[in-house]
Amino acid sequence: MRQSSLVVVANRLPIDDNAPPDGVCEWRRSPGGLVGALHDILAHTPATWVGWAGGAGPAPELPDIGRLRIHAVGLSEAELADYYEGFANSTLWPLYHDAVEQPVFDRSWWEAYQQANRRFADAAAEVAEPGAAVWVQDYHLQLVPAMLRERRPDLLIGFFLHVPFPPPELFMQLPRRTELLRGMLGADLVGFQRAQGAHNLAQLARRLLGAKATDRAIELDGRTVRTGAFPVSIDVAEMQSLAARPDVVRRARQIRADLGQPRHVLLSVDRLDYTKGIEHRLTAYSELLRDGDVKAPDTVLVQVAVPSRERVGHYRLLRDRIEREVGRINGEYGRVGGPAIHYLNQRFDRAELAALYLAADVLVVTPLRDGMNLVAKEYVAARTDGDGALVLSEFAGAAVELDEAFLVNPHDLDDLKATLLAAMDASAAERSARMAAMRRQVTRHDIRAFTRAYLRSLDDSGALAASVT
Ligand code: UDP
Repeated sequence: MRQSSLVVVANRLPIDDNAPPDGVCEWRRSPGGLVGALHDILAHTPATWVGWAGGAGPAPELPDIGRLRIHAVGLSEAELADYYEGFANSTLWPLYHDAVEQPVFDRSWWEAYQQANRRFADAAAEVAEPGAAVWVQDYHLQLVPAMLRERRPDLLIGFFLHVPFPPPELFMQLPRRTELLRGMLGADLVGFQRAQGAHNLAQLARRLLGAKATDRAIELDGRTVRTGAFPVSIDVAEMQSLAARPDVVRRARQIRADLGQPRHVLLSVDRLDYTKGIEHRLTAYSELLRDGDVKAPDTVLVQVAVPSRERVGHYRLLRDRIEREVGRINGEYGRVGGPAIHYLNQRFDRAELAALYLAADVLVVTPLRDGMNLVAKEYVAARTDGDGALVLSEFAGAAVELDEAFLVNPHDLDDLKATLLAAMDASAAERSARMAAMRRQVTRHDIRAFTRAYLRSLDDSGALAASVT
């Protein structure tokens, strides 16, 4: 077994589902943000990525990608149902997102969650060289830090939660709350998107474990677990160079032409997830059409809704509701050849996304709760022309950094409608002043700055951070 000095452990591997075992492996851009976030950086680093390759069954042997080694973990059909779709995505995901959908507490899922976490921890323990750093990602793998420490106390262990970490009132509902908390606290460093996450963790550690805890450190079992906020970001240079490509610029023009050269193009890009506030947005837009504040096809909304977690019941129901509502709105307010909403239940590649960003006058991001929201940052990065307006929910992690956006409470439909109109009607000077401030922020704090800050905090010698930049 070849060993590495840096190991990333994430539920998913960053590769194409269908990559041939003996062929050239293609990077897979998952519809989620994680893989995109770490993609370029690790391709040049002698690290190992431990994760699930997609599909049920034993782990396939996969080739390296650049200098990055790939170590697959296999999951059975039953584990996928109970660990991934069950405990991770039907219990933790909704609970961590303010319980905007009712979390399901099914006792039979816990064993699979533990078993799958054990498998990832064992794999990481095997591929980590003595004294290596292991960086565990996200809510699927919350037990891995403690499991790994038990087997390999020599390792430096980091945990980063990409989704929000909820306040104690919500976390306390979890039937296995103490084990989950202890699992995370097996790490040397626990990172969150926002400072609020570290604050919530400190409160929980005091309440559930009687630990001495501040918003920066928790003392437990004679060890110190450091905590902090590390807002994840995007590859700004990649998005900028895509947005500057002549074919992408041409494609953006073509999109506007295909839409019938409307005065205002509104765009939303989300995984089809109940946390993203798609229904709130549709209601607000439909009321604007009803009230005559906007008219189709003079104004159009392009809604990209990327298929997601379709085996989970909540998601199928949501898709049905959204598609019915889009049909109703188009039926009521569209014209022949001129719908009010262009709905796309597809996943697009980076170049097409960049073209959509360039074509949009207003990007509308209205999650009810979101760890970060990389789409908002990508839009800002793509708008090298300094134009465009961003409507952004206060409940997205991105709102902390992008406070020059048109911020909105998506639960307040009147606020949402007024903010959409304000963004559409803003003067060129206002749009460009807001965009310039946001561009400065995103450029300064790109994915490399995020990775460097996290790894420097994990290993204060600086050696780890230096190895990936
Ligand atoms: N994305 C994509 N193709 C699409 C739609 C989205 O590649 O058609 C990417 C998008 O560029 C972004 C990520 O998916 O990098 C979504 O991340 P975000 O943080 O916005 O939301 P998440 O899906 O992680 O909740």
